[in-house]
Amino acid sequence: MIDFLNLRKVNAPHEAALEQAMQRVLRSGWYILGDEVAAFEREFAAYCEVGHCIAVANGLDALQLSLRALGIGPGDEVLVPSNTFIATWLAVSQVGATPVPVEPRAGTHNIDPSRLASALTPRTRAIMPVHLYGQPAEMDAICAFAQAHDLKVIEDAAQAHGARWQGRRCGGLGDAAGFSFYPGKNLGALGDGGAITTNDAALAATLRKLRNYGSSVKYRHDLVGTNSRLDELQAAMLRVKLPALDGENATRAEFARRYMAGLQGLPLDLPVQASGAESSWHLFVVRLHGPVGTRDRVLAELAARGITALIHYPLACHEQPAYAGLTWPDLPIASSLQHAVLSLPISPVHTDVEIDEVIAAVRDILSSRAA
Ligand SMILES: *Cc1c(COP(=O)(O)O)cnc(C)c1O
Repeated sequence: MIDFLNLRKVNAPHEAALEQAMQRVLRSGWYILGDEVAAFEREFAAYCEVGHCIAVANGLDALQLSLRALGIGPGDEVLVPSNTFIATWLAVSQVGATPVPVEPRAGTHNIDPSRLASALTPRTRAIMPVHLYGQPAEMDAICAFAQAHDLKVIEDAAQAHGARWQGRRCGGLGDAAGFSFYPGKNLGALGDGGAITTNDAALAATLRKLRNYGSSVKYRHDLVGTNSRLDELQAAMLRVKLPALDGENATRAEFARRYMAGLQGLPLDLPVQASGAESSWHLFVVRLHGPVGTRDRVLAELAARGITALIHYPLACHEQPAYAGLTWPDLPIASSLQHAVLSLPISPVHTDVEIDEVIAAVRDILSSRAA
């Protein structure tokens, strides 16, 4: 049996340190916005090579609060990828703005900068590129377009902890970035968590208020804020795991290289990295060729062999019931990807032997189909 992601195994190497940190928080008697969160914010800002980190309750809040702090709201449009996890779109909808989908490049599955111009209207205020599957979006072209049209750039870095674009960490490439520490992410807590990174001190100060009832001084409320704070307990868990992140990402990158070499010559598209992009390899996503139904058969045949693969994502955002009431442009790339993409197991606790077994299984399934 090869799991897609075994979180018990992922956290096992950290178990003793995690228990120690839990006890430290328990005995401190201080559970919200204390030393652990402050220390994690410093450590994660340093890791991302940015000036400020504001820890919040989850990744969706990180994106949503970034938009709010940048003044984006009702009547505004935000350019988003047509191919992403729904949270990117929900963040825009939650502040009362409208997500305007832009199709991805075929190879990287990330937003295609050459398509931004045709999505622009007088109401466009921001772009929210996603570093999907951990592959950095083409930030030079995106930021140049944003600058030319006076748009804000909010990175959705929820899958890109540690990824680099032209040598610089994701999280410091736009006006603000949203991270998620959902347990399955490359840096995962033992519950929900998120953070915003930015180099803008004024924006950081606004965000610190917004996450805490609009307040920076107890019982004085400057903004109509919300309650979206990372717990001390989760901050302590993340502080244990952060020092191991680069090593774990390097293991993921090694498995990605193994897949790339082992899956050559098959009727599928391998992940393509834009030049200058260094992925965090949150997911290893291939696109299968062949008629509709090919992907589902491969998925089922892998399952029959005890190998769990998954689909990211099985239904495009604009086809979700949540967005059914609105009219969308034709988005043929997003609409077709959902039937063709397959995520193969990749995590820091898989082994070379397991990755080779997945490769052998995929090769076998696809060659017996051709026969
Ligand atoms: C996980 C994820 C989010 C949301 O993060 P949560 O912590 O689950 O709210 C947003 N965007 C992308 C691309 C994600 O993968």
